[in-house]
Amino acid sequence: MDLNLTNRKVADGRKERPTVAFVVPCYNENQVLRQSLPLLLGALDGMSAAGIASQDSFVLCVDDGSKDDTWKIIAAMHRADKRIKAIRLSHNRGQQNALLAGLMTVRTMADAAITIDADLQDSLEAAAEMVALYREGFDIIYGVRASRKSDSFFKRTSARAFYEFQNRLGLETIYDHSEFRLMSRRALDILAEYPERNLYLRGIMPAIGLRHAIVTYDRSPRLAGETKYSFMKLLSLSIDAITSFSARPMRLIFLIGLILLVADIGVAAWVLMSHFAGKAMSGWSSLMLSVWFLGSLMLISLGIIGEYVGKIFNEVKRRPRYSIQDELLN
Ligand code: UDP
Ligand code: MG
Repeated sequence: MDLNLTNRKVADGRKERPTVAFVVPCYNENQVLRQSLPLLLGALDGMSAAGIASQDSFVLCVDDGSKDDTWKIIAAMHRADKRIKAIRLSHNRGQQNALLAGLMTVRTMADAAITIDADLQDSLEAAAEMVALYREGFDIIYGVRASRKSDSFFKRTSARAFYEFQNRLGLETIYDHSEFRLMSRRALDILAEYPERNLYLRGIMPAIGLRHAIVTYDRSPRLAGETKYSFMKLLSLSIDAITSFSARPMRLIFLIGLILLVADIGVAAWVLMSHFAGKAMSGWSSLMLSVWFLGSLMLISLGIIGEYVGKIFNEVKRRPRYSIQDELLN
């Protein structure tokens, strides 16, 4: 293991050898676990040999209601090495919920949790770097891909377009970061206060704040098996990402209504001119005027209702209104 890691400084209040937990969501991963779990344990061994992680660091697998023998494999590996721990969800709830379940489980067991996919597309060297940064005092460390070489053309361009779209809607996001990240216990405690149902962790992270850093790495192809993200799962995640964080689409309706109302003046002038010039069929003028006027009125009304729905939307999420980073009270 890299000696440069060992010699890195340790911030006040941070342990020299924190207990690190890898949190691994697993959905139908029977083809990769036998390869990937030993690699994860190896990475923990490396960190503890370098003196940057405690020996009781562990791996927590979250079986997200797999339909294959994923759970059996995990259970067998747990019997062989108790550092492999696991929970199993009763039903397939999707990666976001599986991650949350895992993070809330390790919150009281570990000092820092690193979420990483079961297919080990993310880099274990980057994970060690994250732990070194944790010791230096950072609370959230984002893994960011240096390039998207390992993605298909479709995924690459759609992901780019999506990040761009999110930014336009006013969402704070980290480009090319997926779910590979380290969170300190303090960050996990704050995450626990976000009780929302439609979870989009990548959107919550910047909202948590605290000290954060970025580690760049090259993402490799899947170890084995194929992607567990169907097109529908990806689409539903994208819709959640936007609707859980932005009320702007509703505001847009209001705006379109207003623009149409202004356009109405032009339309009305044109209709009346045609009417008095005798160019209009009988009944056309009144129809045109009412269609345009009612159309804009309806959009404006929808927009107003949207504003109220937006308020309800923000209230029902019951997000914490603030989270305290440090305290100096005594
Ligand atoms: N996953 C999950 N539940 C799901 C879908 C995926 O827990 O419903 C897990 C999966 O086992 C993997 C991670 O989420 O560990 C990322 O999925 P995948 O690698 O298939 O996505 P991709 O890398 O292709 O985007
Ligand atoms: Mg993957």
